[in-house]
Amino acid sequence: MYDDLFQELIVIGGNASGLAAASQARRINPKLRVTVLESGKYVSYGTCGMPYFISGYVKRIEDLFAYPKEFFEQKRNIKILLEHEVTGIDPAKKELQVNARHSEKKLFSYDRLIVCSGASAIIPGIAGTSAGNVFTFRNIEDTLGLKKFIDSEKPKKAVIIGGGSIGFLMAEVLNKLGIKVNIIERSERIFKDYEYEIGAVLSKKAEMDNIDITTGSSVESIDTDSGGNATSVTITGGGQIDCDFIILATGIKPNTGFFSNTSVELGLNSGIKVTPRLQSSHLNIYAAGDCCVVKNIVSGKEDYVPTANNAVKMGRIAGENAAGGDTLFPGSVGTSVDKILGLEIAKAGIGLEEAFLLGFKAFKLIDSYPSHAGSAPGAKAIAVLIIVDTGSRRLLGAQMIGGEGVGKRIDVFATALTAEMTVDDIYMLDLSYAPAISTVWDPVNKICGKAVLELGKRKF
Ligand SMILES: Cc1cc2nc3c(=O)[nH]c(=O)nc-3n(C[C@H](O)[C@H](O)[C@H](O)COP(=O)(O)OP(=O)(O)OC[C@H]3O[C@@H](n4cnc5c(N)ncnc54)[C@H](O)[C@@H]3O)c2cc1C
Repeated sequence: MYDDLFQELIVIGGNASGLAAASQARRINPKLRVTVLESGKYVSYGTCGMPYFISGYVKRIEDLFAYPKEFFEQKRNIKILLEHEVTGIDPAKKELQVNARHSEKKLFSYDRLIVCSGASAIIPGIAGTSAGNVFTFRNIEDTLGLKKFIDSEKPKKAVIIGGGSIGFLMAEVLNKLGIKVNIIERSERIFKDYEYEIGAVLSKKAEMDNIDITTGSSVESIDTDSGGNATSVTITGGGQIDCDFIILATGIKPNTGFFSNTSVELGLNSGIKVTPRLQSSHLNIYAAGDCCVVKNIVSGKEDYVPTANNAVKMGRIAGENAAGGDTLFPGSVGTSVDKILGLEIAKAGIGLEEAFLLGFKAFKLIDSYPSHAGSAPGAKAIAVLIIVDTGSRRLLGAQMIGGEGVGKRIDVFATALTAEMTVDDIYMLDLSYAPAISTVWDPVNKICGKAVLELGKRKF
């Protein structure tokens, strides 16, 4: 059953997808030599929990680590080499060029390779980004640097460049610490991966929480003092916003630079193109996680969905297949959820504009429902928005924002989207009810019932 023709498996990247891949490869094929090359000083950390360390909700940085390096080495027989950055690949020779901080070894040979190198924060091409008080927030090093700065400098004002989920997650954290936040977003609206109605609810809440948002304005430069520290930003039109520090939350890009000068195929955002077996265009090179593009199950097109849930699943499958197994990754419906400023925000599937671009005769519906029955006090409002295809009556997308119960419901929508269900089917789904949890007609049923009525009015 196992492929005995190869012995040396190398994994690039020692976090969510990389360690899932290495661990599964070890389970499937105990004879393999498995080595993880990690450019940083840390492995196996909970990226998603890093904002909680800044806010103080997580007290010790150690609590963000799922397992110590020794666990993988001793329990799973996986060799981990820290501060080993892969700088180039020669797929023909099956060789990696490595910049190793404490070792002379520069070349590593593999029989099979799994690339799990994740993504890095995009640094906008403006003056001043290298100032000491300008931060990105992507890994443990960034987290430790920001925490140290906040603890020692006690800043009062921050500018966050970028009004997406990382920008808002950090705005909430800083706001809780008593730091005045100004989010600057280049587009006309925040949270542009969502329909504008969802972002508008979040914007209103941010305003109530005294967070300033400037939309439709780009930061043209970061202005520094004689000591090289950022003191303000200059935005389109010449306005200046003072600050004690800056967080760049302007998106991420896959770490695939080491593939330049190779024929390994890259797709959207320079993410690695993979088959359902998670093989790249070179058969001995597999890939998983934020460094890859995936198939969007709803659109059938290539998509970039950098979430931890996709990363660990893909890692496991890539590890399994690279070690001789045969499992398929079906793709993603783009499910994501955040909790920001006390609101749960979630989405799955595609938005209205994308639906039109794909040729669907789509429409969107939005309504607001209580999270649970009135007989149990404390229900919160949930805005539920769906995108529906008129012809097939299929659900194409769902988005929600509300005080509670959003995470539970987006998973129902994600399942329905994966199964390509119609709104008629979802309207009649047998969803659970108890007064403190839901309403007898759950909001998921209700919005789809509304869509069924709307479809009845539409002429084909
Ligand atoms: C603040 C924050 C909050 C988040 N919250 C959520 C959330 O709530 N839910 C969710 O689903 N997702 C969340 N995410 C996204 C999630 O963390 C990522 O999708 C996930 O970490 C991807 O895992 P990965 O292993 O593919 O990449 P990474 O976690 O980025 O790991 C890649 C590793 O590869 C290493 N590496 C890179 N290049 C090289 C090289 N050339 N040589 C050797 N090593 C290299 C890196 O140092 C890194 O350790 C969040 C991300 C951030 C930043």
